[in-house]
Amino acid sequence: MAFDESALLDIAPVDPAKCLPRPPVVTVMGHVDHGKTTLLDAIRNTDVASREAGGITQHIGAHTVNIDAGRIVFLDTPGHEAFTAMRARGAQATDIVVLVVAADDGVMPQTVEAINHAKAAGVPIIVAINKIDKAGASPDRVKQKLADYDLVPEEWGGDTIFIEVSAKEGTGINELLDVILLQADMLELSADPDRRAQGIVIESQLDKGRGPVCTVIVQQGTLKRGDVVVVGSEFGRIRAMTNDKGTWIKEALPSTPVEVQGLSGVPNAGDPLAVLPDLETAKRIAQFRAERARQEHLARSSKVTLEDLYSQLQQQEVMELKIVLKADVQGSIEAIRKAIGDLTTEKVKTVILHAAVGTVSEGDVTLASASNAIVLGFNVGVDTKAAIVAEQEGVQINTYNVIYEAIDEIRKAMHGLLKPVFKEHVTGHAEVRETFRIPKIGLIAGSSVVDGKISRGSMVRVLRDGEVMWEGRLVSLRRFKEDVREVEKGYECGICLDSFNDVRLGDVIEAFMLEETQPSM
Ligand code: GDP
Repeated sequence: MAFDESALLDIAPVDPAKCLPRPPVVTVMGHVDHGKTTLLDAIRNTDVASREAGGITQHIGAHTVNIDAGRIVFLDTPGHEAFTAMRARGAQATDIVVLVVAADDGVMPQTVEAINHAKAAGVPIIVAINKIDKAGASPDRVKQKLADYDLVPEEWGGDTIFIEVSAKEGTGINELLDVILLQADMLELSADPDRRAQGIVIESQLDKGRGPVCTVIVQQGTLKRGDVVVVGSEFGRIRAMTNDKGTWIKEALPSTPVEVQGLSGVPNAGDPLAVLPDLETAKRIAQFRAERARQEHLARSSKVTLEDLYSQLQQQEVMELKIVLKADVQGSIEAIRKAIGDLTTEKVKTVILHAAVGTVSEGDVTLASASNAIVLGFNVGVDTKAAIVAEQEGVQINTYNVIYEAIDEIRKAMHGLLKPVFKEHVTGHAEVRETFRIPKIGLIAGSSVVDGKISRGSMVRVLRDGEVMWEGRLVSLRRFKEDVREVEKGYECGICLDSFNDVRLGDVIEAFMLEETQPSM
């Protein structure tokens, strides 16, 4: 059944001329206990609108903060897990990452993970050095350490914004919000409010009283109460919408998080929302997606494996092999990083998205899944959850105990990324001496092989006065009435060509073979 989803969705390209600035959407990330939740609370408390409305913020998965200089939307789930899980589903809701680093604890493993996850997504990072009220706070040490990860403060010649805050005491929060808006300005975030809305699901649940509800961040257009929508594999008419202050609203502009009711079921976080002209179309798309998801589940769509990288990436000019690396000790990481780096050539690049000491975790697998990378484990195990997710997502985890083996496998995979080069070998020529037609078979060129040989498996081209008239395959090769495998120089034969019926006396049939050779890196 031919089903053209994009034709039904009919999403027109965004016209930049109609776009207006929109608020940034921010995710807070960082190591556990560095103060992400406290910071989000402190930020929530600065919001003028919610203070005026009595300070009641609803937990719908995201909230808007209004300050004098503008508005900012914060996703309520801190950390890189949710962020990357969404990305693995092809969705990106975040414009800016705020990286929280405790000034008394410094750069820790999840700090590095957060940096790598944000970088893999291409999202700019603002660093909030937190807990500066504490006795052991050392913001400069944090800055120095982060410079190793290319996060260099402006005063040291870099372009990363660092803000010192105390989430607990509420210091530096306004400054942080100001620089987020500044960064947003530089990103020139914009959307066209005047079109059919599109959005992205950030949270969803089945509510006892209200049925399926989900929180959507509007990304384009204006979402209106009464709109017909398709959301992932669900559809429906928006019966009611509330904002993060619990207020019923009729319209939601770009970058607004809203909780919507009226869907046929509960969609997944990361699912796209699109407004459609009628319920019937929405239903058809939803049903098609549900069926496709079912089929994909059956087929267990595979992501990148070392073996089939070639077929997936052959469209690109410079190939990239992306790697998530886990190892037993820092020394192994450095050794492998160096060896892998040395493998990079003009045509194939290796990119280590994330490298850390420890077992292969679920986070490693989601990062690899979201970025089409492979996971490499050296002298480490794979935790159970990671193995399950890898199986579900079709992510390949390769574990090694010998560095040489790991490097050798990677070299082979990189080599496999290169497009094979086809070299042509001319094997012989035949001259057409007469032509005749045989019913059901077609035109036969009675020919004499003048040099080399003609084989049944050959590719051939027909030359007339030195010009190529046709190129293709041999359909049959006969001597007298027998099918033969090949005919040598000096012998006569009957040649039938696939789909070419204009062979003439005096034409030359050139036979050649294509030999596939692997180019060198
Ligand atoms: P999360 O795991 O990153 O979400 O961290 P939390 O927000 O739960 O904070 C962990 C602990 O650090 C809590 O006991 C907080 O009270 C404390 N904390 C957070 N921010 C600050 C701060 O700015 N100063 C101090 N002294 N403690 C803080």
